[in-house]
Amino acid sequence: MSNAVQEKLVELAKASLYPNYAQPPIVIVRGRGCDLWDASGRQYLDLFAGIAVNTLGHAHPRLVSAIATQAASVMHVSNYYYNEPNLRLAARLCSLTGLARVLFSNSGTEAIEAMLKLARRHFYVRGEQDRYRVVAFDNAFHGRTMGSLAVTGQPKYRDGFGPLLGVTHVPFGDVSAVRAAMAPDVAAILVEPIQGEGGVIPAPPGFLAALRATADEHGALLLGDEVQTGVGRTGAFLGFQREGVVPDAVALAKAMGGGFPIGAVAAGEILIGALPPGSHGSTFAGNALASAAALAVLDVIEEEGLVEGARTKGEHLAQGLTEVASRHPTKIVTSRGVGLLQALVLAPDVAAAKVLGAVREEGVLLTLAGGALRFSPALTITLEELDRGLACVDRALAKC
Ligand SMILES: *Cc1c(COP(=O)(O)O)cnc(C)c1O
Repeated sequence: MSNAVQEKLVELAKASLYPNYAQPPIVIVRGRGCDLWDASGRQYLDLFAGIAVNTLGHAHPRLVSAIATQAASVMHVSNYYYNEPNLRLAARLCSLTGLARVLFSNSGTEAIEAMLKLARRHFYVRGEQDRYRVVAFDNAFHGRTMGSLAVTGQPKYRDGFGPLLGVTHVPFGDVSAVRAAMAPDVAAILVEPIQGEGGVIPAPPGFLAALRATADEHGALLLGDEVQTGVGRTGAFLGFQREGVVPDAVALAKAMGGGFPIGAVAAGEILIGALPPGSHGSTFAGNALASAAALAVLDVIEEEGLVEGARTKGEHLAQGLTEVASRHPTKIVTSRGVGLLQALVLAPDVAAAKVLGAVREEGVLLTLAGGALRFSPALTITLEELDRGLACVDRALAKC
């Protein structure tokens, strides 16, 4: 591998990839644990884990062998038949979420679509066709397909795709605004326990419980988007569980497959009749290969105590970020987050992309979310790796 190889590959990208992303001129060719290498041979510390996806880091032997073994047996049969890993995965997710049934998808946005369809059809089945509206939040992110985009509350994702219908957005954390938006046509309130893409903004204490109470008062459903927060990242399996609140359904994806695409909706008892056979489906959803990958992820999470670990490592990371923030008061406004989903909030006059580039020059890969530097490392990361990463970020901020 060399610079010349990497440059050739980047030329391929410029000539053939649709330009809807803005990658730096780096091609990742290999990973191991929290380390990644590009095509020039340069090594990076991965503190973003493919946007909170690579739960076990890269090339984890248990995940690699689960995928290889399942691929050599059966990958896909469609939902015309059951497959064993999928049934075992569904049972595990029911017990981990405390919800009654699991509906699979291939991504986060498809899980959100399914959850929205579930909510609307739930009321249709009960003869309440006029309940269709969703109350969602400003600054929320729920995905890029049309339904998910309609509930997403950020102009940068919505502009140019309208009309996006049937949704009322209110300020995140504002209980009285939610109450004011409630009406007989509201089917559901949809919320992220921590706004991820919005900039790693935790719901204020008591907010999720207040949403539960408000939904109940109005006969509406409470839906949780745990695509970024779920599967242990916050120090609980679900972000909602930290507040002791049980939503009627939650969407999961990102971290579930540890890098293999898979998503799911876990739904409570009252939603079981909403989507009878034929009313919803997806060819690839719940396939044996993706399910085997997700099962391996859940096994390792359990055996290595990674949910509890996310809490203790998260405290260590939060402490380190507080110190970094205090050393760069003109560039960093504050640090915030929960567990292994944390952020350094950049001052408004700081060029965020420049900081991200400077951090990369120091050998650390991060992402930006809502004007903040987001940290979403693998749950298998070590304290030593976190410290090494923090030192690099500190150096990068000093140089900016
Ligand atoms: C990433 C994300 C989604 C969309 O998931 P995709 O797999 O990209 O479709 C939805 N909601 C939240 C909170 C997310 O972070």
